[in-house]
Amino acid sequence: MRDFSQDTRWLSINTATVRKQRGVDWPLLDILDACAARGIRTVAPWRDQVAAAGLKATAQRLREHGMALSGYCRGGMFTYTHTPIDSARRKAVRDENRRALDEACTLSAPCLVLVVGGLPGALAGKAEHRDIAGARAQVTEGIAALLQDARERGMPLAIEPLHPMYAADRACINTLEQALDVCDLLDPQRSGALGVAVDVYHLWWDPKLQQQIERAGRSRLLAFHVCDWLTPTTDLLNDRGMMGDGVIDIPRIRGWVEAQGFAGCSEVEIFSAANWWQRDGGEVLDTCVDRHRRCV
Ligand code: ZN
Repeated sequence: MRDFSQDTRWLSINTATVRKQRGVDWPLLDILDACAARGIRTVAPWRDQVAAAGLKATAQRLREHGMALSGYCRGGMFTYTHTPIDSARRKAVRDENRRALDEACTLSAPCLVLVVGGLPGALAGKAEHRDIAGARAQVTEGIAALLQDARERGMPLAIEPLHPMYAADRACINTLEQALDVCDLLDPQRSGALGVAVDVYHLWWDPKLQQQIERAGRSRLLAFHVCDWLTPTTDLLNDRGMMGDGVIDIPRIRGWVEAQGFAGCSEVEIFSAANWWQRDGGEVLDTCVDRHRRCV
């Protein structure tokens, strides 16, 4: 296992971690500067932050700092409606994902991370149906279609399974096993075009996690996300913990991933409305550097 205690080479900052500090948006280009000043060489930006900063300006600032991406957030949201098939909405989903792929290419991302979507309408407050199996079928269909676009562009897709508490509104792929079933169905030859993002926050509880990481193998392991699970967790979305503050044995899971040959970054992704988003962004980044060395 790699020794993280001495350097930040394998630390990536998911820019949602510091996107809005004390109620004020921290512009992406300033976040990149602050990361570079601390020796952080890798980030994972979100599409809306890139759009606000400008795609070209973002790519240029990354180049100036010699920075790379550990992933691009995000594509997905493949579920559009029940029956009859709403072809207009399906097309809109695919077009949006193609734009995400193109942006990922411009930024030289190693993969586009996919949050696949839950029951259509649920995120806005009212689900259009209760057919989670149907939603999952639409996800598989959507990834199959996007995989063609991804192959044309040479941009891998990383399916991110989310914790089951998000099954209704954000992602109906909830275990690594499920995600790998989709990978095996759509990319049985393990071409490298389709894989998974392993996020310890979503997957730490799964008794099959080690087994499924071994099943994934190096060719499917495209990203590794870290934060911690707090007890109690007071908000389903925005109460993630800093590494070391919760109950996840992060080094153990990293060991499983690295045993498969994964040699990428540990990407810190913390949504924390009541704590870390209330602090100075520089302090949050400094804490990420410290915890990456001691707790990841
Ligand atoms: Zn994640």
